[in-house]
Amino acid sequence: MSLEVRNPATGKLITTLPVTTEAEVVAAAERAARAHESWSRRSPRERAAVLLRLADLMEADAEVLARLDCEDAGKPITECRTGDVPAAIESVRWFAEAADKVFGRVAPTGPGHLGVVTREPVGVVAAILPWNYPLAMAAWKIGPALAAGNCLLLKPAEQTPRSALHLAGLAREAGLPDGVLTVLPGSGDVTGAALARDPVVGALSFTGSTATGRLVLATAALTNFKRVSLEMGGKSPQVLMADALGFGDLVDNMVDAAFLTAGQNCTAGSRVLVHRDIADEVVDRFVTAVGALVVGDPADPATRIGPLISHTARDRVAKAVDEAAAAGARVHAADLPDGLHPGGAYYPPTVVTDVPAGSAVLTDELFGPVVTVQTFATAEEAVRLANDTDYGLAASVWTRDIDLAWRLARGIHAGVVSVNSYSEGDITTPFGGWKQSGFGGAEKSTTAFDQWTREKTTWLRTR
Ligand code: NAD
Repeated sequence: MSLEVRNPATGKLITTLPVTTEAEVVAAAERAARAHESWSRRSPRERAAVLLRLADLMEADAEVLARLDCEDAGKPITECRTGDVPAAIESVRWFAEAADKVFGRVAPTGPGHLGVVTREPVGVVAAILPWNYPLAMAAWKIGPALAAGNCLLLKPAEQTPRSALHLAGLAREAGLPDGVLTVLPGSGDVTGAALARDPVVGALSFTGSTATGRLVLATAALTNFKRVSLEMGGKSPQVLMADALGFGDLVDNMVDAAFLTAGQNCTAGSRVLVHRDIADEVVDRFVTAVGALVVGDPADPATRIGPLISHTARDRVAKAVDEAAAAGARVHAADLPDGLHPGGAYYPPTVVTDVPAGSAVLTDELFGPVVTVQTFATAEEAVRLANDTDYGLAASVWTRDIDLAWRLARGIHAGVVSVNSYSEGDITTPFGGWKQSGFGGAEKSTTAFDQWTREKTTWLRTR
């Protein structure tokens, strides 16, 4: 069995790789278990030194890494250069520096006993990745998992294995011992499922769709109860209160929120909720800005919107928009420019207004360059609309009224709420979704160590 990696901008074959089989996953897990015996005994500062060298090598190879993700995922090269690659380097470096700051505790016991609570690595752990942020997601897992002393089996998405494989080569060059990081390219049903079943893997961090997350969790429950953390889809609201147009950068932020990686972003602000007093002006300005986005070859630095990952994905997005239009919604989209490669699955950035309730464009994670706009009259209605989704990954709220901003942020059920900007915070803040987006902040910040370590109580009777 083999994987065909194709450039989504052209449909052309880039490379073919073998699918890692179940037997190979089992062997890799056993090798990782052997490597763990010595890796976990290295002092945190020694582990940090290797990871810091890896971060330096990533910096030196930044352009190579950016190009790999651009070609495999169809992501605009400018996004890869300015977003994904720096974020990945930062993650490895930050967690390296944090390696010797993962403290245990001494329990407040009575005289005669000492209760020492240590944080220990889980051992052999795994990560399953999506295709939309291949390198950045790999680094979010590699940084804390290895810094904490685990050995990691990493499965990149079938569409985008090359940046993770390159990273594994850099890790070897940095001095990471054999078996500490193993990249296993493969398909979900073979390689991913084998990782989810593997009895040696003690923790598995999954980032991908909600449907696959459900399978992974069920598999863990039916096998060795490995600890599972889930980072899944979203349908995130951007809430604009009546004074929001006072922010000069509002529309630029709205565009970024909705259209980074052609909307194929878990935190995409794909639902604009706007106060009715400013709705007409916001829609006018937003539609104009969206119409000006440069759609084109992702390898061109001027491109803001590349192709979708596949023709199937494009057709799914188009179907949802067409159905909404047939049900009475208004679709605002510029024509695609001439000269796009016919093999690329391009879809124009689109704003949909006057959407009938229950329409799939409002409820489903479309994972494409499509944003809906809904209006509200009161803050209570805004919160109700914001929470009217199965997902709870991210949200943004815009108002200068600090009390109102706080009330909205508290009322919205999401893992990250950004006020007066579109942001997921930075490496120091936890990231993760609620509801069917996941189990809450498990990535970034020192919180990330919670998924990769476990507490042990050592109880000493003293004499
Ligand atoms: P996907 O669920 O199709 O695939 C994700 C990974 O799961 C891939 O590596 C795939 O091979 C693997 N997989 C598939 N079937 C499997 C199985 N039966 N057992 C084990 N593994 C299996 O998702 P995708 O299309 O690659 O990514 C897009 C999704 O990822 C979107 O829903 C997006 O919102 C989500 N995402 C979430 C975050 C986050 O941090 N919350 C970040 C990025 C992407």
